[in-house]
Amino acid sequence: MPIRFFNTLTRAKETFDPLEAGKVRMYTCGPTVYNFAHIGNLRTFMFEDLLRRYLKYRGYAVHHVMNLTDVEDKIIRACRETGEPLKSLTAKYVQAFFEDLDTLGIERAEAYPAATDHIGEMVELIKTLREKGHTYDVDGSIYFKLSTFPQYGRLSHFDMEQLKTGASGRVDSDEYETEDARDFALWKAYVEDDGEVYWETELGKGRPGWHIECSCMSMKYLGESFDIHCGGIDNMFPHHENEIAQSEAATGEPFVRYWLHSAHLFVENRKMSKSLGNIYTLRDLVAKGHNPRAIRWALISTHYRQPSNFTFEGLAAAQEALNRIRDFRIRLAEIKGDGADLAAEVETCERAFGEALDDDLNISGALAAVFEFIRDVNRLMEKSELGMAGAHAALALLDRLDAVTGLFGAPDSEEAPQAILDLVMERQQARRAKDFKRADAIRDQLAAEGWILEDTADGPRVKRG
Ligand code: AMP
Ligand code: ZN
Repeated sequence: MPIRFFNTLTRAKETFDPLEAGKVRMYTCGPTVYNFAHIGNLRTFMFEDLLRRYLKYRGYAVHHVMNLTDVEDKIIRACRETGEPLKSLTAKYVQAFFEDLDTLGIERAEAYPAATDHIGEMVELIKTLREKGHTYDVDGSIYFKLSTFPQYGRLSHFDMEQLKTGASGRVDSDEYETEDARDFALWKAYVEDDGEVYWETELGKGRPGWHIECSCMSMKYLGESFDIHCGGIDNMFPHHENEIAQSEAATGEPFVRYWLHSAHLFVENRKMSKSLGNIYTLRDLVAKGHNPRAIRWALISTHYRQPSNFTFEGLAAAQEALNRIRDFRIRLAEIKGDGADLAAEVETCERAFGEALDDDLNISGALAAVFEFIRDVNRLMEKSELGMAGAHAALALLDRLDAVTGLFGAPDSEEAPQAILDLVMERQQARRAKDFKRADAIRDQLAAEGWILEDTADGPRVKRG
């Protein structure tokens, strides 16, 4: 069965057919590095990770590029507020971003180009747009003239007339000096507020707009036309719409064939916001003792086009699912002797898993196939009908499916964070005070978060279950 993706451009599920047989070239909008990524950002990066892993599982050679936005209004504001130079501020968060990827088991893309390393190339692209008559200048800034690109709005299916007046409220107020409210900045002339952040270029003193970096770096690393472009739904307009305009106006070629957008993550049914105090970073959750793999499960297990609701109850359920998989693996490893070889069950599971993901990455269908397999094999084990060959085949299947999801492998060994060590200490104190009810409740809480407590001659020890 062919892979089918929902293409935002056509609003339809389409058979995936890359430009070059067997190869996929994909670009995903990366983090703006002025802060730690929140779990909403990570949901989007996780969906993109599932996508690349699945394409690889299906035999494609994947070339995936993700940009690092390391110059931008919010970053400059952070520099101004903290007094920290741009480079040192962004370097810190680039490092944090890669640490987060590792913690969550997100595979590395093939390249992570940073905007500030491509200023010269952006200047060239803007010059091309200028030569072709797509720009105009206002006070040293350069704008894209949207009236020269009548196809604008194709991706977001936007009502152009509504946009034109600026009545939609979506147009940045700092674009008031443009000829038309829809026009956007390619190059921003230096203003005092930018402090030390500027480049002296053929276009004058200033810095690039945000949109041009993605056109420039995607085409540099993947070619003028490539297969897949992803991002969170908020990137669709105006960012991706502007990318299409810049790229296609410059090259005359179709820019991207399949646009995939992930829906947003909410926390306890509410939008993440500073005022609600519900913006979680990965670090916040790990420091509380939550298992990164359970966080991975919670972030990956809702279909990418459905808004996902992160809850602590959901996180506990994810940990329970992981505990079931851990116990299943342990039981399989203990099987000896002859019995069922599971050839048919493995095939049925893997086929159902693949068919679900072929259908626009239907992850719930794929997970359901695995749980059905686990249930069937557990039944065989209860009746002592499973043989060693079958047990090995089941473990090999889990490992193959783990390569796609990062959910079914053997548990990682991991050091317990302080919050967990504090609980262990509290349990000791409860035991000493003969409050066994409290001590047992703590043991249960540890288990729910995926930690196994062992009382040894040297005292209690916890390990990741
Ligand atoms: P940023 O660092 O703001 O440039 O965002 C990085 C990525 O995270 C982009 O693809 C955004 O669309 C995505 N994103 C931002 N907020 C959320 C959210 N609440 N849920 C899912 N994705 C998000
Ligand atoms: Zn982008």
